[in-house]
Amino acid sequence: MKITNEFKCVFPAVSSNESLARAALSAFLIPADPTAQELADLRTVISEAVTNAIVHGYRNSTGLISVCLRMLPNRVLYIRVSDKGCGIPDIEQAMMPLYTTAPEEERAGLGFAIMQEFTDKLHVRSSVGNGTTLTMRRRLGKIHEEEED
Ligand code: ATP
Ligand code: MG
Repeated sequence: MKITNEFKCVFPAVSSNESLARAALSAFLIPADPTAQELADLRTVISEAVTNAIVHGYRNSTGLISVCLRMLPNRVLYIRVSDKGCGIPDIEQAMMPLYTTAPEEERAGLGFAIMQEFTDKLHVRSSVGNGTTLTMRRRLGKIHEEEED
């Protein structure tokens, strides 16, 4: 995998760090000059992934979340979010739209569906008791030309 740029960070699983992850992603993307739509989509994607790690992965515990952002050739953004929390027993079921293990918290069960919609590839690796790693890729559109006048 040829990497043209990379950023890694590790932070505690607390909800105030959701905005930190969004901000890191936005800053990382600046040189690629994404459209407002791409930026909004990808900020949502990282937010859903980090929120899941906090509210589900570390539901009964605390721990660290690792994020790795990479810019690959052809303007492909790679995002990896991992936790060492409780893990997901049935990944296929967890990814079904509207499936949630926290309905009493008014969760919609749409996080994975949103991540899938806003990325080109989403892969989930998880092991019960050991944690979960999401890897996602999204190809950004061509750099838009400066409009004249
Ligand atoms: P919403 O994202 O709409 O608020 P949700 O988080 O329940 O609701 P998804 O994000 O689609 O919905 O996740 C579906 C289910 O997968 C969760 O309810 C949870 O059981 C499980 N899950 C997701 N991410 C993790 C994780 N990192 N660790 C453990 N379980 C997870
Ligand atoms: Mg979710």
